[in-house]
Amino acid sequence: MNEYDSNRIFDTVKEIGFEKTDNLEETDCYLLNTCHIRDKAKEKVYHDIGRVKKSFKFKKKPFVIIAGCVAQAENEEMLKREPYIDLVIGPQAYHKINDKIEEFLDKQKKIEETDFEAELKFNYLNKIKNSSSKVSSFLTIQEGCDKFCHFCVVPYTRGPEYSRSFNEIVDEAKILSENGAREIILLGQNVNAYKNENFRLSNLILEIEKIPEIKRIRYTTSHPRDMTEDLLDVHGLSKKLMPLVHLPVQSGSDKVLKLMNRKHLIKDYIKTHEKLKSINPNIEFSSDFIIAYPGEEEEDFNATLELIKNIKFINSFSFIFSPRPGTVASNLQLIDKEISQKRLEKVQKQLFENQILMNKSLENMEIEVLVENKTKESNKFFGRSEYMTSVIFDGNDEDVGNIIKVKINNSNQNTLMGESLKKIEKRVA
Ligand code: SF4
Repeated sequence: MNEYDSNRIFDTVKEIGFEKTDNLEETDCYLLNTCHIRDKAKEKVYHDIGRVKKSFKFKKKPFVIIAGCVAQAENEEMLKREPYIDLVIGPQAYHKINDKIEEFLDKQKKIEETDFEAELKFNYLNKIKNSSSKVSSFLTIQEGCDKFCHFCVVPYTRGPEYSRSFNEIVDEAKILSENGAREIILLGQNVNAYKNENFRLSNLILEIEKIPEIKRIRYTTSHPRDMTEDLLDVHGLSKKLMPLVHLPVQSGSDKVLKLMNRKHLIKDYIKTHEKLKSINPNIEFSSDFIIAYPGEEEEDFNATLELIKNIKFINSFSFIFSPRPGTVASNLQLIDKEISQKRLEKVQKQLFENQILMNKSLENMEIEVLVENKTKESNKFFGRSEYMTSVIFDGNDEDVGNIIKVKINNSNQNTLMGESLKKIEKRVA
């Protein structure tokens, strides 16, 4: 979401004359869009500012803006702790960024702006054309969260759930397609909680797939409790929705899920998986796992391993629990480091095995790849399979933006390697 936000911030500040630069040593304005999900997020921001200070030691100080969730969480504390910062702006206040920049430049007085005004923000941003021209483009449809999982900062940094209007989203998807997008990734902290008037995520998917230039649709990140029947059904109805479902489960134990305040049960998660598999047997799952959450006992951990074996997730993120300041879980008794590390290793071994097996099974097969760009290596191109796996292959310039057939020759845990069929046919001819 920060990538989407950064692009939209840039679209906004362009209106008052700012331009992007690769020359960070010479810039007039330095904007850091921060993410609070990262471990030690706050300290990383101050560290980054330290680097900027150093490189501008003998030059005119740039105007320094801190945006994003760390700005929201820290608010005016940032201005007190680091006088080098000029403007702190939260993720729901970007619509005010131009006014705040002009106010600062006029009065040279430091500013903190961290109100939650998601509706005003999107009303403002709707008037500014989205300039993203990536083959695979993000589109935020929903922000914030009302679920308050005990380990998570999102409800505090992004505020309550807010869903954008159906028509605005469809219009933005059309603009992105005109800019060159062939894949749209619908985004939200709770993307499947999307609800505006009577429209749900399923309606959006079916409407966006009517745009002829859009070839693929994905959505992330979902909550198991919001996998409603209409959304499950759309996996059978839609021609463009990709068969990879990223559905964070966090733990395989109901006891731990309760401690996390996740508000879903493992039996329902398994039912969702079964239902989706019955709708489309090609559907595969990926997930997020928090290992060694306070209170996780050996049998809870084994339940997680069992779930991984049962669902055969093909691609997942797994981390040892680390507390985030300000959350309910921030003061809980941590599980012994060595035990946590061993559990993570076991989980990752199982997850990586699934991933390697899945990729191996595609060797010598022809798969469909959406070509995103040429890599720095000459004649090698980058694209993604239907399951989001990176594919590096020998191809042609005119393939960028198209879905083409690639024969997979090789694979490793994260990447498939091959050659486009067109290229093979040309060589044979
Ligand atoms: S549902 Fe997701 S965003 Fe909301 S609190 Fe839980 S982990 Fe955070």
